[in-house]
Amino acid sequence: MAWMVSMNQQQFENFTASSLYCEKCKAAMPVRERLLLVLPDKEIFDYLCTGCASSVGQREVTAGDKLMAQATTARRPRRSAVALN
Ligand SMILES: [Zn+2]
Repeated sequence: MAWMVSMNQQQFENFTASSLYCEKCKAAMPVRERLLLVLPDKEIFDYLCTGCASSVGQREVTAGDKLMAQATTARRPRRSAVALN
């Protein structure tokens, strides 16, 4: 699980999706993604408010999603813009 290590490094590009409303802070707060649970077919991530560290959301990533993500990042389809005249 090499990428768990990389989560401690600065890979914030992956977490930019991350501003969620926090009940405690009464505001949309930037959140941290934390791997909560690893199941055979999926992983569950917890979103923690960076202000008060409470959980503000969760996300499930299935094995299929991960494969898709890997596929899309590995071979990014370079779709040239087609000019429609
Ligand atoms: Zn908060």
